[in-house]
Amino acid sequence: MKQKTLALQQIYREGTACLKEAGIADAAQDAWLLLSYVTGISKAVYYGYPDRCVSEEEAGRYSDCIDRRSRRIPLQHITGEQEFMGYSFLVNEHVLIPRQDTEILVEEALKLVKPGMHILDICTGSGCILLSLLKKCTELTNGKGKTDRCVVGTGTDISEEALAVAVKNAERLGVRADFIQSDLFGQVEERFDMILSNPPYIPTKVINELQDEVRLYDPYIALDGKEDGLHFYREIIHDSINYMKKDGYLMFEIGCEQGEAVTSLLKNAGYKDICVKKDLAGLDRIAAGRYNGE
Ligand code: GLN
Repeated sequence: MKQKTLALQQIYREGTACLKEAGIADAAQDAWLLLSYVTGISKAVYYGYPDRCVSEEEAGRYSDCIDRRSRRIPLQHITGEQEFMGYSFLVNEHVLIPRQDTEILVEEALKLVKPGMHILDICTGSGCILLSLLKKCTELTNGKGKTDRCVVGTGTDISEEALAVAVKNAERLGVRADFIQSDLFGQVEERFDMILSNPPYIPTKVINELQDEVRLYDPYIALDGKEDGLHFYREIIHDSINYMKKDGYLMFEIGCEQGEAVTSLLKNAGYKDICVKKDLAGLDRIAAGRYNGE
């Protein structure tokens, strides 16, 4: 992007044109979000003073952001954050960017969670599932004037770098949670009332067909569900019964074509009350079951 003028409107227009030319789907929106990220201005200020000048330094940083976005680097890797369940989460190249679809998992879990429960989130990544659930629980109990029996949470991930992000997110949100570096249940020792996971579930050969932002910049190990995409469901379901308290819940995010397969894996492992829930697009997104421990 050329740096001819320093008026807000001008650099925004140039930024949008650049992203359009690079084939970015939401060019105007991304150009705006980057402008507001760099300058800190609101829409009200922009529309009130479109001719306001930005400093050369800001224009340079904006131009740099636009260049990076043109190369398909996800917006969230540039700004370093993504909103999830109304909270802001730090993200980087070591964690999957939180998806809106995943909020359904948190919402379903919220319907079942009770004070005093101990929750495990396997493949926690940025920690968005566990931390937003714990944060909502605190807000709900505080609202009712009860703080005595809080929900306790543990998150695991194989990636040390991902856990560093999760720990920072816990601090930012003021949520207490334990994080353990562990290959699935490898280092886990306790039993839980609820086990949640959004594991990698994309079949290996499909990864190449995903959009560049995902294929090139989301961590490969957070996407790759091996040959049929079901590898981690098999592993987690099989081992989960050794880590589940009686009547505990196991709840997954799933790919939209995996409802039947995950249902039968849950059934074969002895899970009851199995259900599959859809996302806002009407696609299967959650599979869950309850283990009665017999
Ligand atoms: N839902 C993510 C996607 O569509 C994949 C997440 C995962 O594999 N757990 O890219």
